[in-house]
Amino acid sequence: MLTHINSDRIILTIVIATILLIVPEVHLMSPITAFGQIPFLSDQPSSSSTNNQSNQKAPNYSSNASLTGISSTGNTTHTNSGGKGSSGGGNSNKLSSNDKVVILTFDDNRKGDFTYAKPILDKYGFKATFFIICNETTDKGAMNWQDIATMHNDGMDIESHTMTHPNLDNLSQSQLDFEIGGSKQCLANHGYHATTFAYPYNAGSKNATAVNTVAKYYEMARSGSEPLMFLNCQGFMKPTSLQTDCRTYSSDGRLTYANRYAVRSYTVDVLELKDSFDNATIYSDFVNEVNSQSNYNHAGRINAVPLITFHDVGLEKAKRYTTNVDLFDQLMKYLYDNGFKVLTFEQLGYNTNTNTFYLRAAANK
Ligand SMILES: [Zn+2]
Repeated sequence: MLTHINSDRIILTIVIATILLIVPEVHLMSPITAFGQIPFLSDQPSSSSTNNQSNQKAPNYSSNASLTGISSTGNTTHTNSGGKGSSGGGNSNKLSSNDKVVILTFDDNRKGDFTYAKPILDKYGFKATFFIICNETTDKGAMNWQDIATMHNDGMDIESHTMTHPNLDNLSQSQLDFEIGGSKQCLANHGYHATTFAYPYNAGSKNATAVNTVAKYYEMARSGSEPLMFLNCQGFMKPTSLQTDCRTYSSDGRLTYANRYAVRSYTVDVLELKDSFDNATIYSDFVNEVNSQSNYNHAGRINAVPLITFHDVGLEKAKRYTTNVDLFDQLMKYLYDNGFKVLTFEQLGYNTNTNTFYLRAAANK
């Protein structure tokens, strides 16, 4: 068993090391913070190789993007029917007879997610989580509030990805409250009860000030960059992550690597860059990625889950942070044909007694 895990870790380490070597431009250019973890991969392209500024610009999806303020004029009155309890309840990682699960998330409310991804998700009966930049809903490349309402009405999970998509490291407390708490309020003004937050550029989850602010407003938060999220937070390859459970702070007062405010995900965009947008290679890597959980999940007991992050989906075949629509269909078809249980972030629960995650039984409603 140990050798099995060790060899698997070696393979994963090689894969990650290869990605880091091949796509250095997506490093987060890691400002050295107190906790000395290796650089995360960015969830977004950055125009700068040293984006260690306190006020990083929002992603420039539109040359004339006009930003809206926090609005209460949304034409929707939806309420989020889900809502995560913070403990107890269905505290089992057993999901029917299938050992393979995946959580799908989409960042930055891109128009292609509505135009191209949603019909494919609908075709296979899949639901996903969409992390919304609350002040980025008006440029033509973005999903607008009507699109988001349609998503939600059809069972998609609507969650928060800040107001303006800054790098959360080095923001003041009031800026953090605006970006993190303000976006929760902004979504609430449109009828969505956000319980999960996603860090722009995967930055902030090793910053205690940012994490504590996230914890004021949300039950969980998503960061990068791991092929698998271990539900007991054991098994990550990082040398700094020798955790025995998922508590947020270790006994010496330092933030842990993986916790409820640092749920680890993997971005398909990284594969696309590594594989030079060759769809066949990306497909093959994706298949390997989602099947890597087989080493940990047995007899319906789920210990490790791939959280897969997409950004835009579109017709382009080689555009950064855009997954080609034909490829996206193939990836989803693979999950469907092979019986994967496709979940949203809402179906990830956290038990405060055991400090471990669990999957809610009512999966794939
Ligand atoms: Zn983003």
